[in-house]
Amino acid sequence: MVVAIDGPAGTGKSSVARGLATALGAKYLDTGAMYRIVTLAVLRAGVSLDDPAAIAALDADLSVGYDPADSRAYLAGEDVSAEIRGDAVTRAVSAVSAVPAVRARLVDLQRVLAGGSESVVVEGRDIGTVVLPDADVKIFLTASAEVRAKRRNDQNIAAGLGDDYDAVLADVRRRDHLDSTRAVSPLRAAEDAIVVDTGDMTQLEVISHLTDLVQQRSGAVR
Ligand code: C5P
Repeated sequence: MVVAIDGPAGTGKSSVARGLATALGAKYLDTGAMYRIVTLAVLRAGVSLDDPAAIAALDADLSVGYDPADSRAYLAGEDVSAEIRGDAVTRAVSAVSAVPAVRARLVDLQRVLAGGSESVVVEGRDIGTVVLPDADVKIFLTASAEVRAKRRNDQNIAAGLGDDYDAVLADVRRRDHLDSTRAVSPLRAAEDAIVVDTGDMTQLEVISHLTDLVQQRSGAVR
């Protein structure tokens, strides 16, 4: 059973995808982490975000590692799981993920990691449309920009990172715009995706709803 979960930032996608994988006893593949690893390397090397050719050249020689068993992320063997979640990487990642050569290489890697006989939940922006168009179940999570910004701002407050709803909303809109208008693999729901609006649901409700959907579908596939 291959489950693709796509959608913009702030829909609770990562927690939901991880929870669904646990409920199904499946592997979990976080493709955003891979774009973040390349972005960290770009920042460390001081390569300009306005120079796609230089980003592509750096990417070509990078060793990007992701372990689906524990979701840890590696750059040239170094565990960078915490660092890739930082603000600097979050601000820069849309520019790096828009570079076609970076996407082509990471999509190949994602297909290899998702392969094999085990069940897998693969989370990203283009999984149902590009990476795994034959996935058994495709889910597209949505929520309004305001709901997503409020969730992220609440997380920032809880983590002691300040309270600035307007700035967070502006950043959510900026990333949505970059991700949905880029030339290669823009963020959009696959035609056969089930669209789930998480605005009025708790995370547990979303996980349980998706688990039901996948189990119904797997009954139908068998
Ligand atoms: O999911 P996460 O927020 O970690 O993803 C970080 C960024 O990586 C996204 O904003 C997007 O630019 C990019 N991404 C992508 N395609 C994917 C997964 C992530 O372009 N499949």
